[in-house]
Amino acid sequence: MACQFDEDEYRNQQLNKYLDEGDMSDPVSSCCGVPIIENTDLCSDCQEHCSEVEIGAFMHDKHVAYMEDVADAEHEIQRDKDDQFS
Ligand SMILES: [Zn+2]
Repeated sequence: MACQFDEDEYRNQQLNKYLDEGDMSDPVSSCCGVPIIENTDLCSDCQEHCSEVEIGAFMHDKHVAYMEDVADAEHEIQRDKDDQFS
């Protein structure tokens, strides 16, 4: 359990480091966060039409979604504990 938490913490730190140090203005696809095929609006990963976003914005959205997942998981654990001791 403690091990799992540490791993999440580590991943989180890596992401923060990336957000701090990376070049955040490169354009990427809004769906997959990968480069868009030149002279098209096609994502180079899923080959779907997509809109262009800065990688900083894409990473930020991912980060927020990840933090929400973590918060949900913690609520889940807390609820299990409450059930156990009530
Ligand atoms: Zn895509």
